[in-house]
Formats: sequence, C-alpha cells, structure tokens
Amino acid sequence: MLRIGNGYDVHRLVAGRKLILGGVEIDHPTGLDGNSDADVLLHALCDALLGACGAGDIGRHFPDTDSQWTGVSSLLLLEKVASICKERGYSVVNTDSVVVAQRPKLAPHLDRMKANIAGALGVDLDRINLKATTTETLGFAGREEGIAAYAVALVESRDKE
Ligand code: MG
Repeated sequence: MLRIGNGYDVHRLVAGRKLILGGVEIDHPTGLDGNSDADVLLHALCDALLGACGAGDIGRHFPDTDSQWTGVSSLLLLEKVASICKERGYSVVNTDSVVVAQRPKLAPHLDRMKANIAGALGVDLDRINLKATTTETLGFAGREEGIAAYAVALVESRDKE
C-alpha cells in the first residue's frame, strides 16, 4: 500500500544563530531560531514522513520543551523518523520539498542537502527532490523575518495489500 504525508514548518530568522538547512551550515548574517538547530526543511520533511506513516507529528516525538533535543542536529531527528517509519513497516518511495526563503540563494547548496537527507533516510539520491523559491519580497519570508518549508512524502508498506 502507498501512503502520502505532508509537512509544513516555519522558523524565525534571528541574529546570533547559525543558518542550517538540510543539514548544511550556510554562511548568512542571520540564522533560524528554535530549540534544536531549527532546520526548517528537515522539520517539514519529518512531519511529511510521520504523516505518511500515520505516526503523528514531530512535536509529539521530539517536544521543543524537552532539553534532550536542545541544539541537536535535525539530521538526527530525521534518522529517528526513518526508524519510526521502518518499525511501522514502511519504506520511503520519494520525498519532494520546497524551501521558501528570500535570501540566501539556496541553489548552490541543494545537492549537499539532498545527500544529507538521502543519507539520513538510507535511500538513493534519486528518491529525494529539493526546490527553493523566494516570495518576490512578499510576506514574512519576503521580509526575511523567517524561512518556511513544505514537504510531501510517499511511503510504501512492505506488506502485500
Ligand atoms: Mg520546526
């Protein structure tokens, strides 16, 4: 059986934080604020995968009030989500994501992000697609107050149904 999930996340851009997207540290004057490394792309992806597997959401598994996850790399969270999917009998068919950011330009970093995601999920690179867009300066992303990410994931049950 095939199942689909979607994920959406937003984090605020602030001074004094590293900008980490898709597990890649990007040189930028501001970074995303949050309890973990605030990797908005990986959080949206985690939610899409958890959704596809019927396993709730990222807040349920890794509460931002839990100091265990403070400052942690979200690649670790994605690895844990991959284990949850596996335990429930699902394997990842493909994922597709969009990062919404006015700046910085993300195109030069997408290949590294993709490799990080494929590595954390234990799947081939061609199962992971990444995109980036601006909002042509409109809204919170356009004003560089934050970065948003959308993700969808398709998983397949190992049972024959
Ligand atoms: Mg988040």
